[in-house]
Amino acid sequence: MGEKSKVQLYDTTLRDGAQRSGISFSVEDKLKIAKRLDEIGIHFVEGGWPGSNPKDAEFFARARKLKFANATLVAFGSTRRANITAAEDDNLKALKESGTKVVTLVGKSWDLHVTEVLKTTLEENLRMISDSIHYLRRDGQTVFFDAEHFFDGYKRNKGYALRTVETAAKAGAECVVLCDTNGGALPHEVITAVKAAKKVGVPLGIHAHNDGELAVANSLAAIQGGVIQVQGTINGYGERCGNANLCSVIPALKLKMGIDCISDENLARLTEVSRFVSEIANMPPDPHLPYVGSSAFAHKAGLHVSGLMKHEESYQHIDPELVGNRRSVLVSELSGVSNIVYKAKELGLGIPKGERARAILKQIKSQEKQGFQYEGAEASFELLIRRTLPDYKPPFELVDFMVVVEKHRRAPRISARKEDMLSEAMVKIKVGDEVIHTAAEGNGPVNALDAAMRKALLQFYPSLSAVKLMDYKVRILEESDGTRSMVRVLIESSDGEQEWRTVGSSTNIIEASWIALADSLEYWLLRQGVIAPKKVTRRSN
Ligand SMILES: [Zn+2]
Repeated sequence: MGEKSKVQLYDTTLRDGAQRSGISFSVEDKLKIAKRLDEIGIHFVEGGWPGSNPKDAEFFARARKLKFANATLVAFGSTRRANITAAEDDNLKALKESGTKVVTLVGKSWDLHVTEVLKTTLEENLRMISDSIHYLRRDGQTVFFDAEHFFDGYKRNKGYALRTVETAAKAGAECVVLCDTNGGALPHEVITAVKAAKKVGVPLGIHAHNDGELAVANSLAAIQGGVIQVQGTINGYGERCGNANLCSVIPALKLKMGIDCISDENLARLTEVSRFVSEIANMPPDPHLPYVGSSAFAHKAGLHVSGLMKHEESYQHIDPELVGNRRSVLVSELSGVSNIVYKAKELGLGIPKGERARAILKQIKSQEKQGFQYEGAEASFELLIRRTLPDYKPPFELVDFMVVVEKHRRAPRISARKEDMLSEAMVKIKVGDEVIHTAAEGNGPVNALDAAMRKALLQFYPSLSAVKLMDYKVRILEESDGTRSMVRVLIESSDGEQEWRTVGSSTNIIEASWIALADSLEYWLLRQGVIAPKKVTRRSN
């Protein structure tokens, strides 16, 4: 343990992470994320750049009033401009006024950037670093120095890159963070440069971008080399290819390198935090993210699943529960009987590995041939299994339907543009011994079908009104067939508490929708424990 146990976690989701295209956090969003990062024990939370925009200035004004249990809030900014004093620099003033205990100051360490981008002398850049750090420290702020482009600078002009680190250390920077700003460094280069910087004798940190898909590897290499602070973002958000993903760095440190940077309980909340941040960022969670993605422990091949059942560790690198994730087994045409048995067990249905399991597998394979896919539609899969149980009684049965789509015929009001297209659906549904006909209109054929189906079922199952359609996706299979193609419809539904997904497939988009819709309602009724239809006083229609 010793020095290694002291690695500090530094999150920059709110600044560097927000640079990812498509992300725009409101002040409220940033406060929520900062609070959550504090709760799981992140040591430093960088809130933004108070000198660069009013939104970040407002964030710091409000964040100051928050009570953090673990985290220290950090403001970010750059060293003073060339040829002025630190006190004359508005950006440094804003950093001072942000009132944070810690400031991270970014400065140049690559000579090319000093002479060609800043257009100043190498000596003046060193003075800029030194003056700025002194200026902030004078009033008691702690300074971390981000040595921008350090690894590129080290490659071209070792001496100068190291002098910037030395200058920052002498001026009193508490930590000098070596940045792979362009994200192109390789792990062995990082190790060499970290070793050289270590000789300066100041605590070091690492800030790696992911342009070579090595941000996590480079961060771990730097820590192996002795840096004590690691910077990164939740889900690896960041400009271009992103930053080092803390959701991968943290478990690697804790579970694989024996570095106790976070408690066991907080590590087990990592998956939840990853999804929380993606929700706030309005980015669909990436199912294939290591450790925290929903597919990170999803097993598909039959051989793996049969191995897993014998020995949990045989086909996964960690126990998913350690990071708050869970193992899942996918069912598809690639599956073996083991997947079916496993999956059924998860659903609380004991299906032995014999005849029944093989029959279910055969049915899945034939359904997949017809365009169904159960990997993203667990609710339909559960129904498929349940329907094979000898005593299964569906809460309703579809008998038939008819959908009419008309343009103009019944809408002489041309001015009411939205209504000149009319869809109407008629459905026949059997509940118990009764067959009900209903009809409903909708803004499109699927909407009308949904309305008619509910109208019929609500008479028996009034609680069904809680079920809402959240997402409706259509995928065309075998596109070469043009309009004759097979289509697959995926529906996501919610009752406000949980979500579930169902699938339908057909050459007819309405029929595919009808199957997926019916599965969604049937699944929910089963979950509610509604097996035999309860008669509610029926209105005649
Ligand atoms: Zn960065």
